[in-house]
Amino acid sequence: MVNIHRLTECFFDLVRITSPSLGEKDVAQYLCAFLAPRGYDLHVDNAGDFCGGNTGNVIVRVPATGPGAPLAFSAHMDCVPPCTDVQPVTRDGRIYSAGNTVLGGDDKAGIAAIVEALFHLEEENLPHPELYLLFTICEEAGMFGAKYLDYSRVAAEQVVVLDACGNPGTIIVHAPAKTDLTITFTGHAAHAGIEPELGINAIQIAADAISRMQLGQIDASTVANIGFFQGGGPINIVPDLVIVRGEVRSQSQERLDQHLQHLRQCCTQAVAIHGGGFDFQSELSYPALDISADSPLVQRALGACHVLNLPASLESTGGGSDANIFSARGWSCINLGIGMSKVHTTDEYISLDSLEKITRLVAQIMLSQ
Ligand SMILES: [Zn+2]
Repeated sequence: MVNIHRLTECFFDLVRITSPSLGEKDVAQYLCAFLAPRGYDLHVDNAGDFCGGNTGNVIVRVPATGPGAPLAFSAHMDCVPPCTDVQPVTRDGRIYSAGNTVLGGDDKAGIAAIVEALFHLEEENLPHPELYLLFTICEEAGMFGAKYLDYSRVAAEQVVVLDACGNPGTIIVHAPAKTDLTITFTGHAAHAGIEPELGINAIQIAADAISRMQLGQIDASTVANIGFFQGGGPINIVPDLVIVRGEVRSQSQERLDQHLQHLRQCCTQAVAIHGGGFDFQSELSYPALDISADSPLVQRALGACHVLNLPASLESTGGGSDANIFSARGWSCINLGIGMSKVHTTDEYISLDSLEKITRLVAQIMLSQ
């Protein structure tokens, strides 16, 4: 049996550690201290140096005790603010924070489940292939831990990420690619009362461009948003600068690129009418996650759900995670629902039942087949 007491203790310890987005050092130290006595091959990489973090990813290699291809399990160590002095409180079978912080079950419930699943297999002498545990940094800030992970230390090509909402049994197989964009509109400043005809109003160019843009749900798998607009100054000056930021997400890289082109065209049209200019910068934040239902990893997860009598469902999500980054490396990758709810809010919670179920599911997936 999974040791529920040790599982919840580990989870409580983890959430109590203050760990804002870039400050996972204490979590990394806790995990290293917790795992070191077991004699695993522990390594902290230098990913933090590339993204302003105060530690690196914790990479744990566990030697095989049975047959099978190496398998990796991953969860991120950082969480979103407010997350200082988190006090976990159990109420009606659910674990909440005291109400003034997030709980941090996103993603420490994933970490606790992975660790307890491994301990369980070892104590019961259940065979497993070579395992890699990847506890990443800076996921919330842009998956920088996964982007800069020391991949030379990981011999697995299949990775199970524990970082999705939905009950245990939820298996995320599709997640969109996301591109961030910054558009800078330039006009020409002039006195608004004396010689307005000499000015080119950057706010007007930007407003015209945006009004032409298709935003919101574009098609079944593509969404676009403008979420930031800044410009202008004193009202007696024709404004000469506006900065607009937005994003486009799509399951299809082709559709994403097409939509970026559409947005750029809207800017070109607005400038053609009003004059002025624009600079259009786009950057791929993460590529899409897309794994076939027939793949061995998905089948392995479905099989594990079946053994445990957990209703399984293959699903899409609108958000990105480390899974997108791993999948871009060419790894087979799924993201499991761990039962965390209302994440990124102070109402966040996870039920004890979910915590136990996801741990049993991870243990089942880890088993040699
Ligand atoms: Zn997360």
